[in-house]
Amino acid sequence: MTARYDDIVVGSGMGGLSAALLLGMIGRKVLLLEKAPRIGGCMQSFQRRGVTFDVGFHFTGGLAAGGLLDQAFRLFGVRDALCPEFTQSRSASRLVFKSDGRVYDLPAGEAAYRSGCKHYLPEEARAIDHYFEMVHCVCDHSPGMAFDRLDTFGHGLAEDFISLRDVLDGLSDNVRLKTLLSAYGLCYGVRPSQISFANHARITLGLYESLARIDRGGQAIVEAFCQQLEQYDVEIRCNTHIEELADVSRERANRFVLNSGDELEAERCIFTIHPEEIMKLLPAQRVSKAFRNRVNAYEPSIGFFTVYACSQPCADLSLNGAVIELLCTDDDLEKSFDADSSSDRTLMLLHHSDNGRQIMNVSEIAFREDVAAWQHSSIGRRPSGYYDYKMKKTDAIRARILERYPACRASLEIMESASMLTYRDYLSTPYGAVYGVKQKIGQFSLFGKLPVRNLYAAGQSAGLPGVLGVIMTSVLVVRGIIGPPAFAALVKERL
Ligand SMILES: Cc1cc2nc3c(=O)[nH]c(=O)nc-3n(C[C@H](O)[C@H](O)[C@H](O)COP(=O)(O)OP(=O)(O)OC[C@H]3O[C@@H](n4cnc5c(N)ncnc54)[C@H](O)[C@@H]3O)c2cc1C
Repeated sequence: MTARYDDIVVGSGMGGLSAALLLGMIGRKVLLLEKAPRIGGCMQSFQRRGVTFDVGFHFTGGLAAGGLLDQAFRLFGVRDALCPEFTQSRSASRLVFKSDGRVYDLPAGEAAYRSGCKHYLPEEARAIDHYFEMVHCVCDHSPGMAFDRLDTFGHGLAEDFISLRDVLDGLSDNVRLKTLLSAYGLCYGVRPSQISFANHARITLGLYESLARIDRGGQAIVEAFCQQLEQYDVEIRCNTHIEELADVSRERANRFVLNSGDELEAERCIFTIHPEEIMKLLPAQRVSKAFRNRVNAYEPSIGFFTVYACSQPCADLSLNGAVIELLCTDDDLEKSFDADSSSDRTLMLLHHSDNGRQIMNVSEIAFREDVAAWQHSSIGRRPSGYYDYKMKKTDAIRARILERYPACRASLEIMESASMLTYRDYLSTPYGAVYGVKQKIGQFSLFGKLPVRNLYAAGQSAGLPGVLGVIMTSVLVVRGIIGPPAFAALVKERL
């Protein structure tokens, strides 16, 4: 007998967990499918020699009381299960420039961040104020930035059609200032000349306002969601994906054939996976050439080569809460996004302490081309050249950590490293890019209804990356499915 669901949600990262839970909360019969053996996608963590490392969730904005993520977690009923750790550090964000060794420490909190910029560049005070006013203006007028303003997820502001680079060029000639103000670009992986100012603002305002880790990281979030999913009877199947959409008309896919051989019926299916993977399932005759060209034109965001390390606390590593540190190899951040940039690329160090140890997640910007030679290999079956590449990269990054923090030399331990191929194969995403599809200015991402009308797209490649961006894509898609009044009732009941 064919099992029947109201909704199938594909992919169990933050996007899939959010969509499945919201649909479960309004009483729909939901099935969540995950290709990997474990749920969580980027929210997973792993352990090496007793130390837990997060994969794709280290810090977030929006968690201060009343912030957008705080509200989203309350809506999902998971907020009380999560313990945010807000950074109070004077160096919540630190930029270090290779050219002159100068260090810029910028505190958390928008006013403090703004003052920090002015402290270093007093002659740029007007430009700095103007920048932050523009960031606010965009967020105040953007749908999807508040639960009482979800009307459309439009890209309709003038700032949606002007790049971050152009805005900064209009504000100042000071290259250093421009890099300070675009530094959070590493949190969405698009160069300043390619991201719209509006999307930059939407992602960064929360980060300026407050910066927090969550105790036990992504694992804590996944566990909290799992408890709720169980409460609302959402069924989860791991190691499972849709192999074929059968019996498809323009209006509906009527049957969903799984890799297990099971066939399901569902009213709707929401994909929170990479657009390329969605395209593989859509029957060719249901997809116009224009639509296919649009999806084929998407580019991957930057990738990371990551080294997972830990050390004993040391004198020159005095930290307090989450700290993001950028070691900029180029004065102009735009250049850090060039695939052919020098062998040492800009490095992002994420620090936190755990049980008296300093945990470091150190990522260098990476590109598909770096690992192209081994792209046809899979986990555990890589050619030896790949292992040489990984070892050389790891050694080089270790040397850069020690150059910055020499006092850690005696206790620094490198526990693991990950290339774009590691990310690709563990996270089931086509190229191992950190944030899926690059959200380029003027681009229409695959978001909401697909050409087969009971299929939808959400997740990081549909809208904005990061835990908050991804949750909001699912909120907006589910709201579109159940209708604004029903969604408003849910929000009223829970917030
Ligand atoms: C290294 C790294 C560091 C990051 N750091 C941060 C951070 O500090 N803060 C922050 O807010 N964000 C961070 N991000 C970004 C954030 O993790 C992502 O934007 C977000 O988690 C993506 O969620 P998602 O649901 O769209 O996709 P994913 O988390 O990728 O989930 C997609 C899921 O779908 C599954 N899947 C794929 N194909 C199929 C299929 N055919 N059928 C079924 N299942 C399938 C995958 O296995 C995966 O579980 C980071 C990301 C990375 C990679």
